Amino acid sequence: MSKKQFEAESKRLLEMMINSIYSQREVFLRELISNASDAIDKMYYKALTDESITFNQDDYYIKVTADKDARQLTITDTGIGMTKEELEDNLGIIAKSGSLAFKKENEIKDGHDIIGQFGVGFYAAFMVADVVTVWTKALGSDQGYKWVSEGADGYTIEPYEKDTVGTTITLTLKESTEEDDYDSFLDEQQLKSIIKKYSDFIRYPIKMDVTEQ
Ligand code: ADP
Ligand code: MG
Repeated sequence: MSKKQFEAESKRLLEMMINSIYSQREVFLRELISNASDAIDKMYYKALTDESITFNQDDYYIKVTADKDARQLTITDTGIGMTKEELEDNLGIIAKSGSLAFKKENEIKDGHDIIGQFGVGFYAAFMVADVVTVWTKALGSDQGYKWVSEGADGYTIEPYEKDTVGTTITLTLKESTEEDDYDSFLDEQQLKSIIKKYSDFIRYPIKMDVTEQ
């Protein structure tokens, strides 16, 4: 399987983010939960115009799972999912919203403020994770895909048999050091407080499942 490269600008921003001493790493969870919520919104709007889709509020939720043994944090949604093309287009280019252009224009030397103000979205996951894996199946598609990336050197995509429409994102957290603590992102109370702080406005239920060591 050949590794695809991220767009050049994405690669630079990604490296900058990963290397920056970023005080609010926890915002990665806000970004992933807001993407999950957006994906469910898309399903909801599809259901409004397509009679073959029924939208039962109870079937739509976001689930955060922490596995302390595996040091993995997983965010699952029952949203619209992504096709292979959407995986390529949407997760292969970062900061399409133009945060890098903004940074250039304003000659800001580190990414600190930009990340805080705009949120660079999905890639915030790499602030806390060494490996990010995305399992997804799009509405109307019978093939699922698995996307894996270890950060700046690119990503792989392969077919994956997924039963349900929606997306599951697993972060394999970085090892904690004396200066940097990532293990707290596996702690139930900590997760709850981050979710409360940043995702209180999310309209779908956020379930949680923490497996102790
Ligand atoms: P933004 O949310 O501002 O568009 P992101 O970097 O957060 O930027 O996400 C990029 C794109 O990836 C989204 O616009 C969406 O198309 C896709 N995406 C990310 N997460 C999901 C998800 N959980 N389900 C479906 N699509 C997703
Ligand atoms: Mg987003």
